[in-house]
Amino acid sequence: MKKKTFSRRNFLATAGKAGMVAGLSGNALSALARNVAAGQLAGSPAPIPWQQQPLPYSFSALEPSIDARTMEIHFTKHAAGYAKSLAEAAEAEKVDTRAITLESLLASISRYSAKMRNNAGGHYNHSLFWQLMATPGKTGSPSAGLMTAIQKDFGSLETLKTKFEDAGKTRFGSGWAWVIFDGDKKLSVVSTPNQDNSLMDISEVKAIPLFGLDVWEHAYYLKYQNKRADYISAWWNVLNWDFVNKRFDVLNA
Ligand code: MN
Repeated sequence: MKKKTFSRRNFLATAGKAGMVAGLSGNALSALARNVAAGQLAGSPAPIPWQQQPLPYSFSALEPSIDARTMEIHFTKHAAGYAKSLAEAAEAEKVDTRAITLESLLASISRYSAKMRNNAGGHYNHSLFWQLMATPGKTGSPSAGLMTAIQKDFGSLETLKTKFEDAGKTRFGSGWAWVIFDGDKKLSVVSTPNQDNSLMDISEVKAIPLFGLDVWEHAYYLKYQNKRADYISAWWNVLNWDFVNKRFDVLNA
């Protein structure tokens, strides 16, 4: 099925007209535009399918940073569970998954149940997460375009890494650390609890995830036990920069 995507420029033009009709102006309009634009823009890199897709590598491909047993349980039990529960919630709450994207559901998640929020977030986050990783040595490095943006918004790649690691280490309980791309084309680091993400309308900061790291204990405990910081620093060895570069190019177009 071919999905219709919206260019950011067209969308903002439309949002502008809608805002004038609604009597919105200035900051209110730009916040609205950014909010909805996050949902629309998210469709453009590559919409996440509603069903779990095959893992793009073997369970052992990310060794030694992430062990095969953790990958197998994470993919076949945890992530498969989110996809299954999302399908149940979509049926119960009459979501026509052929008519809307997962991204647009996330942008209006406040209208749905907690089960929908947890599992739509869980399925989106994990589907992106698998694509964000590759075998050590086959990950590439940040492109010139991405490095320019990183230097503009963080000063250096090292600063981005430190902020990202801190976001993951200080997330109390379960959640994710993210580098996000917002409506002002700015990169920043945030963390979200549980399976929330910045596409959700309930999110404090609305933006498109560029990349993110699962810091739930199920993502690392078999190998790293209580040493979450060691897992986070080892993760840089498997972050698939080639994929991140392509995602950034689409968002930044
Ligand atoms: Mn997980």
